[in-house]
Parts: sequence; C-alpha cells; structure tokens
Amino acid sequence: MDADVIICGLGPAGRAVAHRALTAGQSVTVIDPHPDRIWTPTYAAWADELPGWLDPGVVAATVAEPVAWAVREHRIARAYQVLDTVALQRSLTLDGARIVADRVVAVGDGVVGTASGLRCTGRVIDARGLARAPERAEQTAYGVVVDRAVLDPGQPTLFMDWRLDNGAGPDAPPSFLYAVPLSADTMLFEETCLAGRPALTPEVLRTRLEHRLRARGIALNGSETVERVRFPVQGGKPGHGRFGSAGGLTHPATGYSVAAALAAADTVVAGQTLWTAQARAVYTLRRAGLRALLALPPRDVAVFLDAFFGLPADRQRAYLSGHDLPGTVTAMRTLFAAVPPRLRRRVVTAVLGLTGR
Ligand SMILES: Cc1cc2nc3c(=O)[nH]c(=O)nc-3n(C[C@H](O)[C@H](O)[C@H](O)COP(=O)(O)OP(=O)(O)OC[C@H]3O[C@@H](n4cnc5c(N)ncnc54)[C@H](O)[C@@H]3O)c2cc1C
Repeated sequence: MDADVIICGLGPAGRAVAHRALTAGQSVTVIDPHPDRIWTPTYAAWADELPGWLDPGVVAATVAEPVAWAVREHRIARAYQVLDTVALQRSLTLDGARIVADRVVAVGDGVVGTASGLRCTGRVIDARGLARAPERAEQTAYGVVVDRAVLDPGQPTLFMDWRLDNGAGPDAPPSFLYAVPLSADTMLFEETCLAGRPALTPEVLRTRLEHRLRARGIALNGSETVERVRFPVQGGKPGHGRFGSAGGLTHPATGYSVAAALAAADTVVAGQTLWTAQARAVYTLRRAGLRALLALPPRDVAVFLDAFFGLPADRQRAYLSGHDLPGTVTAMRTLFAAVPPRLRRRVVTAVLGLTGR
C-alpha cells in the first residue's frame, strides 16, 4: 500500500481531510492537477457549523445577527462568519503528505490511476468536486468589493436581500443581494441567482447589481475587485468514498459545502460513514426542497423564503445545517403551513417529484 489514504482533489474538502488525516498520524497521498492553485472565492459559513479544531485566525469577519430581507426584514439570531480564504487554505497544512500534480483518471476500490500512468493504492477519498452540466442547477453571482469608507457606517450585513430594486421585473427570474464584510475596510456586494437551470448569466447579474447599488446611493468607480460565482448545486452522490461537493455535501438551497466538509473531515479520517440512514433521508428532503424552489413562479420565491426566515432559528438551522432528520421534517412541515395556500399545491407536486428534477 502506498499510503493510508489517497485523496483525489485538493479543493476545500480534499485539503481538509488530508490535513486532518496527517494530524491523526496517517500517511497521505494527494493528487490534483494544480495542487498549488491559490483559492480565491469568498467562503462564508454559520459560525456554529465550523469545527473546533479550525484556527480562529481564518475568520475575517463575524456578523452576530445577519439580516434577511424577503417580503419583510428578518434578523437571524445566528452568527455568520466570512472566512479569509488565503488564511484558510494555509491553515490546512499538508506537511508530510506526498503531493502529486496529476489528473486522476480511474478510481477503484483501494486504487487510483492517473493520467501519467501512476497507480496509487490505499483508502481512496474522491474529492474531485462537481463538473458543470446542463441538467445540474447552478448558483451564479456577480460581486464587487467596495471600500467601506464610501458606505453608510450602518450598512447591514445582508445574508439575502430579495427586494425588487435591482431593475428586474417581478416575473423575471429572481436574484438577491448578498452583502457581507470582508474586513474592517471592505464589503462584498454580490447579486446572486440562488439556483437556476439555467442560472442567470454574469452579465444580467452585473446589470442588476449596478442598478441596485445606484438605487441605494452606492457609487462604483469601475476599479473595484470583481468576484464571479458559478458552480453546480446538484450532482453530488453520497457514499462510496466520495467527499465534499462530489460526495453530496453541497446544500441544495444555499450551495454551501465548505463548512460541512470541514466539520465532517474527522469522521471520514476515522473511517466512519457520514451517510447514516438519517443523513440520507435529510439529503433526499433537501433535494426535494430545491425542486420546490425551482418550481415556484419568480414572484413567489421571496414569499416562500419569507416564510422560511419567519421560522424559529432552531428550525432554520435544522434545515440549513447538519443532518438532523426530525428537525428537518419539523422545519419543512412548519414552512409548508406558513406558505400562502395558493403555493402549497405547487410545493407538494415538486416535493413529491411529480415535476422538475
Ligand atoms: C466565488 C465563489 C464563492 C463561493 N462561496 C461559498 C461560500 O460562501 N460557502 C460555501 O460553502 N461555498 C461557497 N462556494 C462553493 C464552494 O466553492 C464549493 O462548494 C467548494 O469549492 C466545493 O469544494 P470541493 O473541495 O468539494 O470541490 P472543489 O472546490 O471543486 O475542488 C475539487 C478539486 O478537485 C480537483 N480535481 C478535479 N478533477 C480532478 C481530477 N480528475 N484529478 C484530480 N483532481 C481533480 C480540482 O482541481 C479541485 O482542486 C463558492 C464558490 C464560488 C465559485
């Protein structure tokens, strides 16, 4: 055997598990065509999702009570943290690992083959992420980094702001504003298409963002750093040695997987399964939730999310994080009771899989 574990892919999931396996004293081989690629996306997570072992220095900003605007304003009593991506990557050290710059072309039971003909044996963890595909709903966003000196000092952190001041009509595919601090000096304003098949293009999102910021008196000068987002929120498959987004850890309703992968790394290193019957049931329910979201008429998406953000914080948490089956079922039931009756038939049809995928 070449190593205790062979990790395919060095994104957040692969790197987290490699780091924790090394910490646990295991021998590790990691394979990625670009192992030294520097991560650039802005990652964020709910504070209570991050594992205790994570270096607190990777947190760039903490927001004690983020705001969600759907139809009304909701203050979410749950701390939200924006990570310093470079610090996160650096903190997941790989000292002692054998790092192979190559492309994995075959994954078998205890064996991996690479494009250059290398064959590695050991316990395989496939964290190669998700490829884009037309049948997979995607999240897209276009964002700019703005100097806080030009903003109102009271500018709130907006986890999701669905107000219609972005120039889109009520019957156009919807997008929301995500506005979070990146540091003491800067904020990210990002117009986001939560999930679409196809998702809104960066050009449309850029036009909407510029319209929205103008309407709010925030002037851009064209020199702002830009962040572009596009990744699938569907397509992962739990089990069989897969991990991270490839292994079904992407939450279909938010697109988030980074905190889930960090939190689950030790379980994987210990050789235990993440995918208990309960976790699989939660996964199935969340996929049904995404079908409901995709089936809603554009003007009702904010109405549906307004009902969600009106749920008690513990129910929101159960739906968004972890794999708490009773909590997820209770959250979905309460949400169903809270949405306007005219939407219920559509939601049930989508949840049961009678429409959409
Ligand atoms: C701008 C932006 C902002 C985002 N914000 C957030 C956020 O706030 N919170 C959050 O949770 N998520 C966020 N996401 C989503 C997040 O990036 C993904 O969920 C996350 O990267 C998935 O991690 P992963 O390690 O599973 O897969 P990936 O990050 O896709 O990593 C897969 C790795 O596998 C490697 N690989 C691919 N094919 C092969 C092969 N054949 N052989 C070997 N290696 C291979 C790739 O080179 C890559 O390094 C954001 C995404 C973007 C683009």
